[in-house]
Amino acid sequence: MFLFQSPPQTSYDLRFSIAGIPVRVHPLFWVIAILFGLSSSSLIHILLWVFAIFISILIHELGHAFAMRRYGQRSSIVLHGTGGLTIPEQISWGGGTANIALTPNQEILISLAGPFAGFLFAIFILLITIVMGGVITLTALFGIIPFPIAQIPNGGDIVNTLLITLLWVNIFWGLVNLMPVYPLDGGNVARYVLLQSDPWDGVRKSLWLSVITGAVVAFAAFFVMHSTYMAFLFGLLAFQSYQILQRRM
Ligand SMILES: [Zn+2]
Repeated sequence: MFLFQSPPQTSYDLRFSIAGIPVRVHPLFWVIAILFGLSSSSLIHILLWVFAIFISILIHELGHAFAMRRYGQRSSIVLHGTGGLTIPEQISWGGGTANIALTPNQEILISLAGPFAGFLFAIFILLITIVMGGVITLTALFGIIPFPIAQIPNGGDIVNTLLITLLWVNIFWGLVNLMPVYPLDGGNVARYVLLQSDPWDGVRKSLWLSVITGAVVAFAAFFVMHSTYMAFLFGLLAFQSYQILQRRM
């Protein structure tokens, strides 16, 4: 999810592992997660945001990591200031190191596994809500996109805020991540889909798709969603794709 390279190790890194997959949490992850929650009304709501972002990004990256493992590729997870990364482990190969060679379809499934792990988690949250006697209603996001709101009548403010936040992060960010824009998961999917139909020019086409989609989403984010953050993010990603294109020419 989101940006780029693994940040340097620090002595404040939190380290643990899940099902044999090493996880490292860079201190900036917590800083950015708190900033995301700062618009909330109270300390407890900020902590709920941090918890929801932590769990959701972890599940997203575990989706990638388990998919890689299915194809024989070991990996480790890093949560950092701008999201998370699942990093394939290099294997010794002929005196150097290399990644396991994955087929385009395997690459596509690995990329999709992150967002879809989040969607599955959202379905799990909705099921929990129903089992707990809660209600699910649909609201229109930005006036157009149907979006589920889960509420448990006797659940109290903390439980209900957590449910809504988890649904928001897992569904909305999952959809955002599927946009065919580098280096989002959807950008990877687009690259391998276009490479399969056009091995010579697929990468260049996927970069142009990234530039155009990024620009359109940036405009829509600014003028329709009134989200400066999303507009800035997608504007930046579109510009980066454009720069990569310039270097390839
Ligand atoms: Zn991802």
